[in-house]
Amino acid sequence: MTEKSHTLLGPVEVRELAEMMQVTPTKKLGQNFVVDPNTVRKIVRLAGVREEDSVLEIGPGLGSLTLGITETGAIVTAVEIDHRLATQLAVTVATCQPEAKLDVINADGMQITSLPREVNVLVANLPYNVSVPILMHLLETFPSIQRGLVMVQAEVGHRLAAAPGSKVYGVPSVKAAWYGDWQISGQVSRQIFWPVPNVDSVLVGFEKYDKPIGTEAERLLTFELIDAAFGQRRKMIRQSLQQVVAGSVPELLNSAALSETARPESLSVEDFLMIARAIHNGN
Ligand code: SAM
Repeated sequence: MTEKSHTLLGPVEVRELAEMMQVTPTKKLGQNFVVDPNTVRKIVRLAGVREEDSVLEIGPGLGSLTLGITETGAIVTAVEIDHRLATQLAVTVATCQPEAKLDVINADGMQITSLPREVNVLVANLPYNVSVPILMHLLETFPSIQRGLVMVQAEVGHRLAAAPGSKVYGVPSVKAAWYGDWQISGQVSRQIFWPVPNVDSVLVGFEKYDKPIGTEAERLLTFELIDAAFGQRRKMIRQSLQQVVAGSVPELLNSAALSETARPESLSVEDFLMIARAIHNGN
């Protein structure tokens, strides 16, 4: 045991807390709790959390990861949808680390639109079934987020970090790339969760670009084009985009300097942005 182990939750503490609260983890809310302090410290280290950071955590659960973040001295805003978990979290953290700086909000991370303070880092073990919509909502709603590290289902993580041409390149890859650079930062064993999930997990890190690549109006149209193009993945975008574009798509593609035979999986987010700009310019 390291000197600081008692400030984090291990398997015994997680079980005791759940029993005390009479919590049975639900699949519906993606409740797989981390029971391994080493993994928690690895996540916090890879996220590069510093004392001066203001961290947003979505889905703090019983507090395993929260305690790893507050341990750095950073201030944490934790958003938890499960009322029972949200209520207990402040008590757990104050007991383990009386000096911790934490605000808990009982809300849906996919819908929240305001926070008590500006946040610059996102660190979360996201509920698996809704990790992409939560990420997209947060990036869109809280532009102060500069970087982050999230634990997601392996398949989702590889999609988020995929480049054009990759087999798994899809809507999450292109939309995530609107905001910044993404990379797989590490693998996570299933055994560090309770209950043990039936999917593998990875850590995905992102760094926002210094400046947004386009305006909000351009983003909205670009995302609409992405949805239309990947909605009919097997078709050339010349065909799939025709359903959302009034004018001639081949002409648009020409003015965006793109091939008429392009398929969605070969296009970068900048390519989709060029099409959106061509539409805005009335080409
Ligand atoms: N962070 C904890 C850990 O690492 O042990 C728990 C992670 S668990 C995979 C996901 C957590 O997200 C659960 O606590 C669940 O209740 C919560 N959750 C699920 N959907 C949510 C949502 N839409 N908004 C906020 N929290 C949510």
